Amino acid sequence: MEFSYHPHVLEYKFPFGVSSNTRTHTQSVFVKIEWDGFTGYGEACLPPYLGDTLEKTTELLDKAKRILKQQTYPCSIAEIILEIDELDDHANAAKAAIDIALHDLKGKIEKKSIQQLYRLNPVRSAKTACTIGIDIEEVIKQKIEDASAFEVLKIKAGTNDDKALIKLIRKYTNKPLYVDVNQGWKSKEEALELMHFFKENNVVLIEQPMPVDRIDEMAFLTQQNILPVIADESVKRLSDLQNLNGAFNGINIKLMKCTGIKEAFEMIELAKELNLKIFLGCMAESSCATSAMAQFIGCADYIDLDAPYLLKNDPFEGVSYKNGEVVLADLPGIGANPNRAIIDL
Ligand code: MG
Repeated sequence: MEFSYHPHVLEYKFPFGVSSNTRTHTQSVFVKIEWDGFTGYGEACLPPYLGDTLEKTTELLDKAKRILKQQTYPCSIAEIILEIDELDDHANAAKAAIDIALHDLKGKIEKKSIQQLYRLNPVRSAKTACTIGIDIEEVIKQKIEDASAFEVLKIKAGTNDDKALIKLIRKYTNKPLYVDVNQGWKSKEEALELMHFFKENNVVLIEQPMPVDRIDEMAFLTQQNILPVIADESVKRLSDLQNLNGAFNGINIKLMKCTGIKEAFEMIELAKELNLKIFLGCMAESSCATSAMAQFIGCADYIDLDAPYLLKNDPFEGVSYKNGEVVLADLPGIGANPNRAIIDL
């Protein structure tokens, strides 16, 4: 197989703020695996908080190139991914890019979508939340207007004054809210008070209320049964699911954390066994990785796959957004292809 990669900077329509920083763009790396006239595409999206740098990512991709060069088709995607996983303890986004491209290639050769390859529920469109980053009031108002088609909004909290943030949002919309605290609450007492306030203000779930090492306090919050508590930073990969001990009601699965489609599928299967809700999330991916993740919409309790909607230079065409729903393209593989006007892949 031939393998190559292409760094590309994704630009936001609006600057995107979370409690720790605001950014205008995100580094991504697109990968391409070719075999016998077919091409599979994948993406590593590298927001700075993930810890995956461009240098680390390309280092792993260079090593993976040597493994992929020896492959022919048909092949065992699981075996190739295991070999690449063992190259590095981190670089999960780079691993995801290769996993996505291998699945895309297989789907294109076999003329099947990922939904068909994994025998997933064949749902072609579903409601998704749209994320409103932290900003000044005037811009928050604009973002809420821009998201008018979406029935649920996701808010980034964990600010100095989350009550004020919710009150500000409520000046402009009464839509249900997913609130992502990004580990921002420091005590369970503060968290309890805010969760009651949030519930009264039509917040429907909380994501990662406290730091990863405060698992007992998050278990306490979950047991209070005020709002569903979803793990994000606490659950990256399949192995993290075994140690939750009732600390959460559900998990946010993201391809860039879990190393790709194969492990996302395994996490969904195990989460169902463990009676955990399934939240499909994303970082700041283009329509490449988002189309891959959207193949799982028929398995999800909550969906936040809005990343391409927030971009102004999406280099892929795949999922689209209609009436607040993410809609899959009728294509084999991951269901996306490069937009040649934006990227020369
Ligand atoms: Mg989160």
